[in-house]
Amino acid sequence: MTDAASYLFYQSRNPRPFLDYGEGIYLFDEDGKRYIDGSSGAMVSNIGHSTPRVLAKIKAQMDKATFGYRLHFRTHPSEDLAAKTVAMTPDGLDRVFFVSGGSEAVESAVKLARQYALTQGQPNRHRVISRFPSYHGCTLGALDLTGYDPLRAPFAPMMEGMPKIDAPATYLDRDNLTEEQRGLKYAELLRDRILEEGPENVLTFVMEPVGGASTGALVAPDSYYGRIREICDEYGVLLIYDEVMTGAGRTGKFLAAEHWGITPDIVAMSKGFGAGYAPLGAIIAGARIVEPVLDSGGFQHGFTYAGNPLACSAGLAVLEEMEDQGLIENAAKMGEVLMAELRALMDRYPFIGDVRGKGLLTAFEFVSDLSTMEPLDPALNAYERLVELAYARGLIIYSRRTRGGTAGDHFLLAPPLIITEAQIGEMMVILRDALDAFAAEIGQ
Ligand code: PLP
Repeated sequence: MTDAASYLFYQSRNPRPFLDYGEGIYLFDEDGKRYIDGSSGAMVSNIGHSTPRVLAKIKAQMDKATFGYRLHFRTHPSEDLAAKTVAMTPDGLDRVFFVSGGSEAVESAVKLARQYALTQGQPNRHRVISRFPSYHGCTLGALDLTGYDPLRAPFAPMMEGMPKIDAPATYLDRDNLTEEQRGLKYAELLRDRILEEGPENVLTFVMEPVGGASTGALVAPDSYYGRIREICDEYGVLLIYDEVMTGAGRTGKFLAAEHWGITPDIVAMSKGFGAGYAPLGAIIAGARIVEPVLDSGGFQHGFTYAGNPLACSAGLAVLEEMEDQGLIENAAKMGEVLMAELRALMDRYPFIGDVRGKGLLTAFEFVSDLSTMEPLDPALNAYERLVELAYARGLIIYSRRTRGGTAGDHFLLAPPLIITEAQIGEMMVILRDALDAFAAEIGQ
C-alpha cells in the first residue's frame, strides 16, 4: 500500500512528523513532542498559534457566511479590515486591495503600477528593477523579480529577465567607506540602472525594506532608504515595498517603511497579515495612484478569493489582537533582547560572521573566515544541518543559502511577536546546544 505521504508533493521527500496542535509560540506533534516556533513558520504566525479570541471571531463569521463574491455583495469584514489597515498605515497609503498570498500581492502591485503608468500616458514604462539577492514570490511574474538562482534557473526561459541591482550587503564590504557612504553607494546603483534601461522604460523599483529569506534579514544603512526614494521621484519610477514578510508588525513597526519615514507608492503585504489564521494578503497604495486607475475604467485584476469575508474576518481579528496586546511594541522590545543574545553568540562560535535584523526579524550567517567573510564549504550543507540539529532538540528555525542561493548559510530567527524574555532565553538554550553539536561536527 502506498503511504499517504506519497500522494502529496511539495519540495521535499522528507516528511516531518504530523502536526497536532499549536499554542502560543509552541507547536506539538502527534507524539506529544513540543517545538518552539522560532521562525513563526515561514515568518507568518505573528500573533502565535490558536489565540482563543481570534478563533472565536473567525468562528462567529463562519456561522454567518464563509463566502460572498465581492461583485455580488459588500461585506463588513472586508471593509472593516481595509479601514483598520489604513488606520495602522502611515499617511499617504489609504487604498487597499486584498489578495490571498505574497506572490499575488507582489504581482498585483506591479500590475497596479503598470495601469497607473498608462493613465499618465507612459505606455513604454514596463521594466521592473529589483535586487540581487531578493525573494518576491514563486509565480512566474514574481519569480522574474526574484534574485535567487536555484529558484529561477529551471524557469529562466519563461521570464523576461528583469534587471537587478546588488542588494546593499554592506557586511561583506571591505572598503574604507562609512556606513552612510555605503548606503549612498548602493542607492546609486539604482540610478545607474535606470539610466541604462532608459528612464522612459522603467516602471518600478521593488525592494524588501528588510531582506527576508534570500538575504537573511538584511538591513541597509539608513542613508540608503531616503536616497532610493529621491531617485525614484527624480525619474518618475514608482517605489514598491515588498513588505510581505516585514509588514504587520514583524520589525517593530506596522510597516518597516516607518523606520525610515518613507512612503512607498505601493506596499505588498501578506504572511503576518493573516498570521496563519487565513491565506490573506493586500496591496496598499495612495489615492494618487488608485483613483486615476479607477477613473480610467478600473483595475483589470482580481482573484476569486480576494476579499472573502472569512479571510478578512481573520485578518481583522489578527490586527485587533496586535493592537490590544501591544504586539508591535513587544516586537521592538523583544527584538533588542534577541539581537543582544545573538550578538553574544559571535564570541562563542568563530563561524558566526554576522548578526543582523530589525525587531523580531533577525538572522545570523556562517563564514569560514571572519576577515574575508568567505562562506563555509558548501559541501557541509550547514544551512540544512543546523536546522536539523535544532529541530531534533525542539526548536524550529529557518535557513537559506545566502548570496543568491549558491553559497553561504544564514539562519532566520523570527518568533511570534507575543514572545517573552523568558521564552527567548528558552529558545537560546536550545539554539546554543544545536550550535555546540554543529561545532563538534565540523571540528571547531
Ligand atoms: N515576498 C517576500 C518578501 C516573501 O518573503 C515571500 C515569501 O516568502 C513572498 C513575497 C511570496 O509570498 P507567498 O509565498 O505567500 O506567495
